[in-house]
Amino acid sequence: MNEADSLKLSAGLTKFGLEELNSEENADLVVVNTCAVRQHAEERAYGQLGNLTKRKKDGDDFKLAVMGCMVSNNNKELQRRFPMVDIWAKPQEFDPIIDLVVDNTDVSNGEFWPNTFGKPNGMTAFVPVIHGCNKICTYCIVPLRRGREISRDPSEIINEIKFLAKTGIKEITLVGQTVEAYGNDLIDIKVDLGDIFEKIENINGIDRVRFLTSYPVDMTKKIISAVSDFPKVCEHFLIPVQSGSESMLKRMRRGYKISEFKEKVYNIREVMPKAAISTDLIVGFPGETNKEFSDTLKLVEEFKFDKIHTAAYSPRPGTFAYRKLEDDISIEIKKERLQIIELAQKKISTEKNIALIKSVQEVLVEKEQAGKCTGRTKHNKLVHFNGKNILGQIINVSIHEVSPWSLKGTLAETNEIPII
Ligand code: SF4
Repeated sequence: MNEADSLKLSAGLTKFGLEELNSEENADLVVVNTCAVRQHAEERAYGQLGNLTKRKKDGDDFKLAVMGCMVSNNNKELQRRFPMVDIWAKPQEFDPIIDLVVDNTDVSNGEFWPNTFGKPNGMTAFVPVIHGCNKICTYCIVPLRRGREISRDPSEIINEIKFLAKTGIKEITLVGQTVEAYGNDLIDIKVDLGDIFEKIENINGIDRVRFLTSYPVDMTKKIISAVSDFPKVCEHFLIPVQSGSESMLKRMRRGYKISEFKEKVYNIREVMPKAAISTDLIVGFPGETNKEFSDTLKLVEEFKFDKIHTAAYSPRPGTFAYRKLEDDISIEIKKERLQIIELAQKKISTEKNIALIKSVQEVLVEKEQAGKCTGRTKHNKLVHFNGKNILGQIINVSIHEVSPWSLKGTLAETNEIPII
């Protein structure tokens, strides 16, 4: 989401004659786009702001803006700590940043600047379809910073994707904090994520569509069928479960039971037995007992996810968990649990990847440098191989070697048929 926001701001600034630079040196404006989802991300932003503040104090003349989830309605503490920042802008509050460097303009042009689209470097692009989140997970800062769910108008989304297709983008990822909630808040239009998939099928130039992040309760059978029915849509789901323990899900206020999460996974595997399913987990949430943690581990071993993003819990000021639940799991135990999950997943990923040796995979070539290529399969497996002048193409690769996190192969013979 932040990547999409940065691109949009950059496109807006370009409209007014500014030029993006590769480094902050010599810039008239530096914008730090921040993430507050974990403490570590915030600390990195503080470090960067410290360096930029020093440069300003030393006499460098540039405007400094901070945008994104670190910025809230009350920034007094941040303003006190970083007085050299010229503007604090909440997510999608682009106008005040542009006003810093462009005089006398009315730049708003309506919600989300419907006609300002950026072109990312590379073959793939993120397209936000819904902003904000209506859920109330106790640990999460996102709803407090990004507000309630607001879906974009479908025609605006399609216009953006058509623009991206014209610039050579081959794959788009539809993004939202809870992407299947798309359309729920649109009063005059009846539309869901499946309808957007259908419209993209007819856009020439776009070969693949991905979507993230899923929220189990919002995932309907209609959307699952749409993933299976529309050939451009990749059969890859990122459905965060966060914990395998019923009592823990309750404390996290995730809004579903383990049985409901499992049912969604079964629904997907019934329609698409080979679909890739990834998840997110938090370990060391307040009060996490050995039993609760072992329930999570059991879930990992039972479901054999394709990928897991695991994070150790870090309290976020302002959230319910920060105010009401003691962060009582030591850093050592958090690290140990993180390691146990990572080891279990490494074994699962290795087994899954070994099963792909000697298969032929369809790969979208996303990078090519001096004959070395990198791309991804429809199931989001990273593939390395050698090739020339094939950037942006979907090509068949025979897989010979694997690691837990990627595959290695060679260009397939023309008579080798991909197994997806
Ligand atoms: S669903 Fe929960 S974790 Fe995800 S963005 Fe919304 S509040 Fe945060």
